[in-house]
Amino acid sequence: MDFKQVRLTKLKGISEKRSALFAKLDINNLEDLLLFFPRDYQDLTEITPLHLIQDGTVVTVQARIIAAPTMQSKGKLSWLKTSLTDGVTVISVIWFNQPWLAKKLQSGFEYYFHGKVQRQGNKFSLQNPLFFTQTEYEQQKIQAIYPLTAGLTQNIVRNSVDQVLALYDNYLIDPLPDQIRKDHELCTLNYALEKIHQPQAQYEYQLARIRLAFEELFLIRSALYLLKRKNQAESQAEVLLPSETTKQKMNDLRSSLPFTLTNAQIKAINDILRDLRQPKPMNRLLQGDVGSGKTMVAAFALAYATWSGGQGIFMAPTSILARQHMDTLTSLLTPAGIRIELLTGQTAGKKRRDILEAAEKQEVDVIVGTHAVLEKDLILKKPVLTITDEQHRFGVAQRSALADFDKQNYLPHRLVMSATPIPRTLGLILYGDLDLSIMEELPLGRKPIKTYTATSQDKARIYELMRNTVERGEQVYVICPLIEDSELSDLESAETTYEKLAQDIFPDLRIGLIHGSLKADLKNQVMEDFIGGEIDILVSTTVIEVGVDNPKATLMLIQNAERFGLAQLHQLRGRIGRSDLDSICILLSDSEEELARERLRTLCQTQNGFELAEQDLRLRGPGDFFGTKQHGLPQFKLINLYEDHEIVQTVNKSFMKVIKQDPALNFPDNQNIVKAIKQRYPEMLSGITL
Ligand code: ADP
Ligand code: MG
Repeated sequence: MDFKQVRLTKLKGISEKRSALFAKLDINNLEDLLLFFPRDYQDLTEITPLHLIQDGTVVTVQARIIAAPTMQSKGKLSWLKTSLTDGVTVISVIWFNQPWLAKKLQSGFEYYFHGKVQRQGNKFSLQNPLFFTQTEYEQQKIQAIYPLTAGLTQNIVRNSVDQVLALYDNYLIDPLPDQIRKDHELCTLNYALEKIHQPQAQYEYQLARIRLAFEELFLIRSALYLLKRKNQAESQAEVLLPSETTKQKMNDLRSSLPFTLTNAQIKAINDILRDLRQPKPMNRLLQGDVGSGKTMVAAFALAYATWSGGQGIFMAPTSILARQHMDTLTSLLTPAGIRIELLTGQTAGKKRRDILEAAEKQEVDVIVGTHAVLEKDLILKKPVLTITDEQHRFGVAQRSALADFDKQNYLPHRLVMSATPIPRTLGLILYGDLDLSIMEELPLGRKPIKTYTATSQDKARIYELMRNTVERGEQVYVICPLIEDSELSDLESAETTYEKLAQDIFPDLRIGLIHGSLKADLKNQVMEDFIGGEIDILVSTTVIEVGVDNPKATLMLIQNAERFGLAQLHQLRGRIGRSDLDSICILLSDSEEELARERLRTLCQTQNGFELAEQDLRLRGPGDFFGTKQHGLPQFKLINLYEDHEIVQTVNKSFMKVIKQDPALNFPDNQNIVKAIKQRYPEMLSGITL
């Protein structure tokens, strides 16, 4: 039976109404339910001897009832009391307002009790414990606990899962090759499916979970690998060979720079130019820490594409960034004869039509713009290269859709750039369909950003520092977690902060405010004023998180810093320290929570984004920075990328071993991998234009 085709209403006890509740949990058919895994277990298998129970803990004990329970009541309150013994120790047990239990408890019989221990003086008692006869205990000692939604109970879900397991005829393909299962002592799929839902012992659900988590990651890793392989095998791209003149021009471009390229930049440029000379489309991710100079790398790639006779596209996530890239490219490439145009939501009417026409006639070489704009009606005569900045904002499906400028059966070469430092092993999973260039090095002369923690008590000194900074002709960012005040929290909002700074603290300075709900025009204007030096202090939410480059901004105050993820704080901090001026970042937080303090201290000690990402992983800070949603991958059901670091590495290693022997995954042993991906994640291989 193909469970995907069978609706839940097939099950006893599931009406249309109830099936709508399941749908809220994304469970629409029997297969979804089979693969709906518990979030935890109520595990009563560990029995505590009575003489070892401790005040305040929840325990399971096995004991005999010494005397028939006695009932007492007072007004509406009633309580049922008796004593238990395991032959060594005696404790009492009490149930409130459940008089009917008296009939179920027989004096002299042994039961299992599960509940909370309370101590008074040196007397222990159990309060309102659950209890089970031997038979009930055998059946219920470990119970799956599922994520629920209003209207559903654990019993409804358990009962439905029970029916599904009874119907399940092992039709799901076990993707893991035998050798891998043996190497890592993983159980079979069918055993795992039964035991994850209905384990009889702790080791059973542990085995099941490890096996299913391994498989989940293994399949996604394989799917991304297959995507990449298919991309390379089936699509063709323009081969861009450099003529002698091109070589000369590239050298001239390099010597025209006011600085020398870093080794990391040179290496990244070489990676790219090597790809551009291949008949396969490049599919490369340039991962460079904030401030590592990715735009420069993009400029060299675009120049090369132009001089080899093609056109390039440079996409940014916001129009502020697009404009900034436009400025950078214009000052660098226009003197070298390259024609560049900017296309954003604000480019309208005749101007817009002219640019589109020029693009189609190849009268313009490079188009810079926002993602949204460039996807629509732009047709290039000879598109050979697309670059997307700040890739982490886009998912897998989008990063493939971007390759769709395919007008002549050729795919353009594709470069995506991201400042999200992702630990290598995770990068291999999340970006398994891309080749990687990593820039960990910052340009020479860059001074580390001095980072400090502070509390509200330090505000007077911080204001003084802000004033000094402005008086030196430099600029300040003040970052707030919220736009407006909320009754639900006492966080300092951007609006309130702005008013306070503008009216009370610095009435003589120029204060600006920017946040996500401002109109795009206004946002651009504020940002331009700030970059142009017409605003001294810019109060902002995280809208400035990405990309913006203002070398004169040298002080950043982050309010309620505990509210941000480590990686996000690092991104924010990357907005300063972008020149040879000294920069300071102040993490303001009154939180006394140890984990929060430690995360902030980590940030003070480390400048390297990759190191921070590793730390983030270790500290498991809030903010699901490696959340798969953000990366456009299927939601992981079992794998927690923070906690299952070891599984992630093991999967990577064993996957590499498999493809080393069988790169096409064609061996009989490996064929189930591909079959299982199609069965389990059809959207991954289909939704993507290859
Ligand atoms: P990001 O990688 O964060 O996008 P940018 O490309 O915005 O970084 O570069 C940050 C700043 O560093 C810019 O002002 C840029 O002009 C400058 N820059 C880039 N490369 C170098 C270099 N090799 N030496 C010195 N400064 C550089
Ligand atoms: Mg950038």
